Amino acid sequence: MARSLKLGMLVSADPNLELARSGELEGVGIVEAGEWKEKSVRTPPMAASKGGLGGGGAGGGKAASKPTVHIWVVIACLGLLAWFLLALGFFADVVRRSPYSSAITQHLQTKTWRRANPAEIDCGVVGVEGKFIPKDQQYHPLTEKGNRVGKSCRSRYEQHCLWKSSNFRPTAEFLGVLRSYEEHHSRCVEGHDLQTALDQGSAPKDCQYLIWNDLDGKGNQLVSLVSAFVYALLTRRVLLITREAQLQHLLCEPFPSSSWVVPEEVPHVRHRAKEARHGTFYARALNETAQGRPVTAPKHLVCFLSNLQKPDDLRFFCPGEQKLLEKVPWLFFWSNQYSVPGLYFVPGFRAKLNAWFPDRAVFLHAGRYLLSPRDEIWLRVMRIYTAHMAPADRRVGIQIRAWSNEYKPIITRHILSCAWFSGLLPNVSSARGANSTSSSLEDDDMATPVEDDVANRDAEDFSAARAGERVSVVLTSLRREYAEGVAEAFAEGRTEARQTVTVLSPSAEGEQRTGRMSHERKAIADMWLLSFADDLISTPRSTFGYVAHGLAGIRPIVFNRYGLDPDTVPDPPCLRTNVPGPCFIDHPHQMSCPLDGPAFDIGDSATALPEVRHCLLQWGVGVFEGVD
Ligand code: GDP
Repeated sequence: MARSLKLGMLVSADPNLELARSGELEGVGIVEAGEWKEKSVRTPPMAASKGGLGGGGAGGGKAASKPTVHIWVVIACLGLLAWFLLALGFFADVVRRSPYSSAITQHLQTKTWRRANPAEIDCGVVGVEGKFIPKDQQYHPLTEKGNRVGKSCRSRYEQHCLWKSSNFRPTAEFLGVLRSYEEHHSRCVEGHDLQTALDQGSAPKDCQYLIWNDLDGKGNQLVSLVSAFVYALLTRRVLLITREAQLQHLLCEPFPSSSWVVPEEVPHVRHRAKEARHGTFYARALNETAQGRPVTAPKHLVCFLSNLQKPDDLRFFCPGEQKLLEKVPWLFFWSNQYSVPGLYFVPGFRAKLNAWFPDRAVFLHAGRYLLSPRDEIWLRVMRIYTAHMAPADRRVGIQIRAWSNEYKPIITRHILSCAWFSGLLPNVSSARGANSTSSSLEDDDMATPVEDDVANRDAEDFSAARAGERVSVVLTSLRREYAEGVAEAFAEGRTEARQTVTVLSPSAEGEQRTGRMSHERKAIADMWLLSFADDLISTPRSTFGYVAHGLAGIRPIVFNRYGLDPDTVPDPPCLRTNVPGPCFIDHPHQMSCPLDGPAFDIGDSATALPEVRHCLLQWGVGVFEGVD
């Protein structure tokens, strides 16, 4: 029944068919039996009477052949009709079996049939009705005919439908830079023996390379990868990733016609060697310059930007150092930091960054282009999103980083206190919450939410405007107890607002297992699910959370004194931070640039430039969008 309803809507949605039915289109082949009947009625009465009783005379033979013709036509029509119905049945089955079936069903049932312009992405396909992404906002543009490029990687197009923030639009300048980068990448990768070039330190004409390698967890990796990409765009280098980092199993190839994976192994010695570090090179260059000797640039050099860096490594953010690096064909980018805020200290970079990203949402734009989870991760994200987040009136993401892997009940209290303080969830300390359901996901199975029938609760202190709303809380953590604690707290109280709070823990891995593929997939899925929330509460200084709110374009609410007080929840429990993107934790500060002179010294990095500010409640500096 439901199936025929869907199909019925599909068919009637075809404007051509509507016209055919109302008789405005002549000779439409699709036509149903009704049209043929009408034509036979129009047969001249003379012919009908002649053929009536077998007729006779000269016209008799002709008249006798007409019924035969009609029979064949009717048989042909019935055949066509049967074929058509079979095809529709097959299509319905495909829709039903699709992993997105409920989103598609919803789409078919509610679609207003505003046809997307072929160049637009129609978000109805992931259940977001009435949202179309026009060509000038597509990071990965559809072809002229409206087709996607490549058979796999649905997230490349679909993820943009689920991010809530519409304030951030890529500029034409940035999209132009991306198209030119793609062409440059292809030219420097296709048809070249990169492995030999890498080993020898040679490079084709007008090509220089930046090889990214992984360091630490997935959040650290993704913020440093986006930083590497932005740096590659600024310096016209070709970004490649090492095979050993295994990111190719988690993310789609971002560039349309050429791979970003280094063909074979990158020699370890070369990118781990101490003497190949740019800090060491910088010290040598300073020495040689002081002695009036020419500086000879190496063929390979490691840019090491991590919490373990030496002071000279940070001279990377000096213009003079960047001039030196221009001569190195193969740079290795080894970092666990979001170093983009530091790039603003190089005047040439700053001018470009301001032209490409006037809204200063650098991570958001570069990340939304570069990072597309592979299909197997995307299916997991979509299944969870469609079942648990899409039906809600409001979605709240809570990221709880369990650094020590142990459960701390005080953090559950901290979460509840913060959620109420910030107005995201009802108060559970005095009146307690709402209808509560909790669910958690283990392995690749989606658990069914456990319905809690406690209803009719008191929530005077919570906005009446939110009465009756369904709130979906996605709480990510290595420990499941936090999601359970939050769900339990809501299950204990009463509220007149009769809200339904669903707490979902999409994974509970127990401990960090960097390098294990199934673990990494869940980590990426969790970050993306958080990023699709309407608002976020985040753990300070966690790069895992940075990725989520950086992609979302949300300035998150961040816990105050997270995990520092063993028995008390601080007052205030949390505050909204001042930057929407990640923070550069181990950033340059009070640092001179001897190759450039005192004018280029980086003094107080949190106040020296309008674009760079200290991240409230977090360590480090971020790119400040200008809203306190
Ligand atoms: P950071 O250490 O908080 O800055 O974040 P990272 O992402 O760099 O490292 C933490 C790693 O621990 C993640 O990459 C995951 O492997 C794991 N992890 C931490 N929290 C979660 C979580 O909420 N969900 C999942 N699936 N994994 C997590």
